[in-house]
Amino acid sequence: MANLSLQDANTSSADKENINIVFIGHVDAGKSTIGGRILVDTGMVDKRTLEKYEKESKELNRESWYLSWALDTNMDERAKGITVECGRAYFETAARRFTILDAPGHKNFVPSMISGATQADIALLVISARKGEFETGFEKGGQTREHVTLAKTLGVKRLIVVVNKMDDPTVQWSKDRYDEIVEKLSPFIKGNGYNLKTDVTFMPISGFTGQNVKEPISKEVCAWWFGGPALLPFLDTMPSPDRKYDAPLIMPISDKCKDMGTIVTGKLDSGCVAKGDSLVVMPTKQPVEVVAIYLEDLEVAKARAGDNVRLKLKGGEEEDIQTGFVLCDAANPVKAASSFVAQVAIQNIRNIMAPGFRAVLHIHSASEDVTLAKLESVLDKKTGQPAPKKPMFARQGDVVVAEFSLDRPVCMEPFDECGQLGRFSLRNEGVTIAIGKVLRVL
Ligand code: GDP
Repeated sequence: MANLSLQDANTSSADKENINIVFIGHVDAGKSTIGGRILVDTGMVDKRTLEKYEKESKELNRESWYLSWALDTNMDERAKGITVECGRAYFETAARRFTILDAPGHKNFVPSMISGATQADIALLVISARKGEFETGFEKGGQTREHVTLAKTLGVKRLIVVVNKMDDPTVQWSKDRYDEIVEKLSPFIKGNGYNLKTDVTFMPISGFTGQNVKEPISKEVCAWWFGGPALLPFLDTMPSPDRKYDAPLIMPISDKCKDMGTIVTGKLDSGCVAKGDSLVVMPTKQPVEVVAIYLEDLEVAKARAGDNVRLKLKGGEEEDIQTGFVLCDAANPVKAASSFVAQVAIQNIRNIMAPGFRAVLHIHSASEDVTLAKLESVLDKKTGQPAPKKPMFARQGDVVVAEFSLDRPVCMEPFDECGQLGRFSLRNEGVTIAIGKVLRVL
């Protein structure tokens, strides 16, 4: 395993492969602690600064406190003239740069996880090994299940499951406890469509002590994992995500702010962008020109699929460019739908779902009100084929094909043509009620 030396990393930051990572898992599993640990271990922020933010954020009762520093306008090195309202946190290993996707400041973790996960290449699923905590997180209604399902639905291809709090007095690096957790989680993760051999990696860590995060674990602490991967070296060397560099540019806009022009943030799903490019914003068809590209703190001449960038744009009025819109190649704009047909798996509804049913559609970086217009069919659970009888309504557990109508057009593509723009979730009153894929744009 490569020994991680961040200071003498000689790949310059702009050349590093960018990987987008989202932290998921039940509340109190240790996401913030691990996030903070990684930022300190990779030299992004010093321990004292982080502790200051932790203290301040706890007073404000804020989640994701470890990312607060990334938004701080007072920090000299961040005040280089680019607005930090769309600031984001990142860290670097020897060969890679990781953008941490978890919009800080969002009150409710799940919606922010949705916007984060739509861009994520990998999810770090944090599981607490502490006695009772694993059990609570994994129970029905615990966030472990909901997050794994959402991550898969939203297209996160790779899962790193860190079994955290291994240092806890109730755990003490017990192999039995680790094995028990891996055994219980595995069928569930597999059931969500992840291939345990190729898509999922488990490892024991302690975010609190930092054991097995940057440095591999010592034989004295944990003989049974000695020689096994530690988190940061693994992130540095794991297989690269597939990227469509040659395809037309698609960049869903996940954030927008004003700073002598419009600045948009997002991940390039496919294609490349260069300074001076003429692009089009969908669904408004607004032509824009790219006047500057920022990769974290650096201004760069171009960016490619996988990069998480800020672009300064010229052209268009305030309302022509919004979060949820998509920046496209002018010759190959994505589709804008006012209605669409989708296959939807209903996971969690109190009553029934019938025509007229309203929910919020979360698709790539967009969220819009949507109405169920027509139920076309319910799929037979055994055969996966449409049942002959036309349904009047659908229930929890059903998989249906249905037509939806939107209050205003939203960019999307059939799932088979573009996974990122074709998968979605439906939420209602703060819970995910269904997940689906677009079959046809009408
Ligand atoms: P989050 O809600 O997932 O972000 O969880 P936090 O990072 O806020 O951690 C919740 C609690 O668990 C805090 O009191 C942490 O100090 C504690 N904790 C987190 N990681 C570890 C760990 O590796 N070992 C131990 N013993 N405690 C931890």
